[in-house]
Amino acid sequence: MRLLIVEDDRRIAEDIAGALSSAGYRTDIATTGEDAWFLGDTEDYDLVVLDIGLPQLDGLTILKRWRANGRHMPVIMLTARGSWAERVEGIDSGADDYLPKPFQFEELIARVRALIRRSAGIGSAVISVGAMTIDPRAMRVSINGVPQSLTPLEYQLVSYLGHHQGRIVPPAELHSQLYGDDFSRDANALEVLITRLRKKLGSDAVGTRRGFGYYIGGTEP
Ligand code: CA
Repeated sequence: MRLLIVEDDRRIAEDIAGALSSAGYRTDIATTGEDAWFLGDTEDYDLVVLDIGLPQLDGLTILKRWRANGRHMPVIMLTARGSWAERVEGIDSGADDYLPKPFQFEELIARVRALIRRSAGIGSAVISVGAMTIDPRAMRVSINGVPQSLTPLEYQLVSYLGHHQGRIVPPAELHSQLYGDDFSRDANALEVLITRLRKKLGSDAVGTRRGFGYYIGGTEP
């Protein structure tokens, strides 16, 4: 899962990114409204944490522009405490959730998890695919209730495919999820990772539709 953090205070932005990374998410940071607008308009993020109070191009304007451009990624806005009018305008502008500052990282992470789940159409906290369960809170994959030992990268891959059940995910999308803009990783790295996952979780944990991409579980969408 790839997240964009928009916050003009770099120290706070890095703290938020650190907390979300340790919860298993990849993060990009934008510290200006212009960068935020551009990244959100051109990159595919699974969620955006958007500070409303930005100098020059403010968060609400960015949000309205994204939505007007058909960018529908979930957005959690960070607002000033007590500013109910700002929150109303934010929600009316297309924000999916909000968090007043200051907040606990635990609460932000819980909201991020819930929002990603909801936007994937998953009602429960744990994702089930056949005998496999994916628990985003514990960052754990189990088979028939038995926890499997996965590396963070392996977990991210299974979790991403699990959040996109019923869809064939193209290799390029998975590659950017796992490696970001690190183009030194060639397409082989993904193949190797998937082969290793099938060894660990069973051959039908991840399916391939040749020439199109990958899907979770043994049944092709
Ligand atoms: Ca700010």
